[in-house]
Amino acid sequence: MDSPPTAVPESPIPGPYHSVHVAPLQKQHEKIRWLVPAQRSDRVRVRRHTCECKATLYELCHSGGLLFIRRTVRGPDGSRVHESERLVTVRMENLWLRLLLGEAR
Ligand SMILES: [Zn+2]
Repeated sequence: MDSPPTAVPESPIPGPYHSVHVAPLQKQHEKIRWLVPAQRSDRVRVRRHTCECKATLYELCHSGGLLFIRRTVRGPDGSRVHESERLVTVRMENLWLRLLLGEAR
């Protein structure tokens, strides 16, 4: 006889239909400086992104040898896009991780 699946606790990776969810913001957190995106001609590749089911989408982007985070806040009047500063891979991957953990926003 099959037993019902055990409830999975709230996880940053919530299952096959979802991407990563951002953890609730910690009281002590780093404030990311969100900038209006500059018009640049360089190509941007999205390496990772958070789940589409949330109103706010974060994308880890790669461009010109540097990484930055793009934040898209979707509302009834359209989307507002901001970008973080651009950092070398190691530093930005660290910030991305902290964003997911609720330690930076
Ligand atoms: Zn989701």
